[in-house]
Amino acid sequence: MKTERLGKGQRFRRGHRRCFHRYEHLETKKQVFEDEESGIKSWRRVDLFYCQRCLWIKERVFKTISQNEPDWY
Ligand SMILES: [Zn+2]
Repeated sequence: MKTERLGKGQRFRRGHRRCFHRYEHLETKKQVFEDEESGIKSWRRVDLFYCQRCLWIKERVFKTISQNEPDWY
């Protein structure tokens, strides 16, 4: 148990420190929630990227509260 945990942690840290990340798009999730009384919507978009070299995952989140669809949606 102990060696397994140590091994994983070391590999993860070493890879991340040396890597010049090269991100590739993984997926995009979009959600809209509408307030029934006001008609104001809450827009949310999450883009996931992963590094082709070390498999590090990066998240980019957009959030806007408005009646109209934002540009990034
Ligand atoms: Zn990387």
